[in-house]
Amino acid sequence: MVTSPQALENHIRFARKLGAEPIHLNEWLNHDGQGRPLPRLAVAFTFDDGWQDNYQYAYPALKAHNTPATIFLVTRLIDTKKTFWPEQVLSLLTTHCIPENAPAFDWLRPHLPTITGPGANRPLLLLEADEVIARLKSLEDATIIDALEKVYESHPEFAPTPSGRSILSSPELTEMSRDGLVMYGAHTRHHYRLNRLKDEKTLKEEIVDCLDDLRHMGKSATPVFCYPNGDITGKGEHLVSSTYKAACTTKTGWNHTGCNPYDLHRFNLHDGNSHSKRTLLATIGRGLL
Ligand SMILES: [Zn+2]
Repeated sequence: MVTSPQALENHIRFARKLGAEPIHLNEWLNHDGQGRPLPRLAVAFTFDDGWQDNYQYAYPALKAHNTPATIFLVTRLIDTKKTFWPEQVLSLLTTHCIPENAPAFDWLRPHLPTITGPGANRPLLLLEADEVIARLKSLEDATIIDALEKVYESHPEFAPTPSGRSILSSPELTEMSRDGLVMYGAHTRHHYRLNRLKDEKTLKEEIVDCLDDLRHMGKSATPVFCYPNGDITGKGEHLVSSTYKAACTTKTGWNHTGCNPYDLHRFNLHDGNSHSKRTLLATIGRGLL
């Protein structure tokens, strides 16, 4: 799911044409205390996960159009070369053949497709790998991350190449927030799906301590949480509402003043559903139904 820089620019232009004023999510949430009236129609741009391409492609577009945005960061991935487990699994499966008897792959084997016939021993196609990732979601995120680490230890040739960095770095975060254009919200420490976490200590670390990380980074932190995958649990929800002033979900739609700030809706825009004015309008229109 990607948005091209051109599509993002079109989204910004089109939002303005519809009469929506781009403002910080934080400003919208603060309207009661600030005494400043909100625009009749406001739009807040948000980006999840803290991908490096937010700096490379989105930031120049935001700057050119003077459009504020909030990026929800996975704090323990900042300044590392790590990435999310689905990307690691995808690269593993589409570039390597999984050895038949190596115990390091025992966790993965039940989720692999059965391929028979000549050429059965080959890396997977993108769609096949996508299906494996969907099946792996029945496991806890930390289990998969640990298992991947063990694979890299026993089979260093399977380890991701150290060339690319997919997540934002501290200098990039500083630059984007310097003129107040970008603010940072919390998207957990490791992007663990909260409904899969059995351990309360980890749940607290992922939700509460993530805000400490953001504040320690000394950047423009805003106490807004964003649920990874949109997955919510009762205990997690309680910790979120006692730590943050609002939370974004993956639910689609508008937010009105006075709505539940812990159940903020959004429009999930990507090139597949909003590359043209017509498709963007259709996507937004569907969100109104
Ligand atoms: Zn995410």
